[in-house]
Amino acid sequence: MINYSYDVIRTRRRSLSVSVSPENKIMVRCPLKFPDYKIIEFLNSKKDWLDKIFSKNAAKLSINDSIINYCEIYVGGKKLPLIFSNKNFVTAEGVYVKNIKAIKRTFIATFADGFLEIVKNLSKQLNLPAKGFFIKSYKSRWGCCDKNGNLFFNWVLFMLSPEIQRYVIIHELAHLVYFNHSDKFWRLVESYEPDYKSIRKRLKTFDFLTRLY
Ligand SMILES: [Zn+2]
Repeated sequence: MINYSYDVIRTRRRSLSVSVSPENKIMVRCPLKFPDYKIIEFLNSKKDWLDKIFSKNAAKLSINDSIINYCEIYVGGKKLPLIFSNKNFVTAEGVYVKNIKAIKRTFIATFADGFLEIVKNLSKQLNLPAKGFFIKSYKSRWGCCDKNGNLFFNWVLFMLSPEIQRYVIIHELAHLVYFNHSDKFWRLVESYEPDYKSIRKRLKTFDFLTRLY
């Protein structure tokens, strides 16, 4: 018998599905009048699969325990102490902030100009001109390209290594040529960053950061 807690979303759908978030929360989606005992039956039948996901997620999360507990914070791919202070600033020894909310504006004030400079240089170098470059706040994405050719980047990117930042910039610049994720799009990305597949995998392990601040 399973003893996990789970959330249920009932909608006008015909099928039953179950997903697990990176934080190990189970979400069941099912038709409006689907009986509870059948949900439990279904989860029981998926127990091995769920256990596997849980332990994988837990291993990933434990690497970042200090980050999730707000004891440390990533800056350019390196962990630094997160120190609560009466002023907001960043040094090589740590990130000093008044509170969690202040992290965003401190990071933007400290890193946005330098980051946008890198974006502009890459745009010139690869001959992929954009209409404008902007820093934004997203909860589930690293960047975005709109139909007018504006590129938007999540400020949380400043926490990642220069190599991963560069991949996200290249990814969004490539959307100026292909507004989709077609094979052609990925081939263009590959032509600028041959190692993009492994960088992309590493980027995925940092997705939790977009929901943490
Ligand atoms: Zn994309």
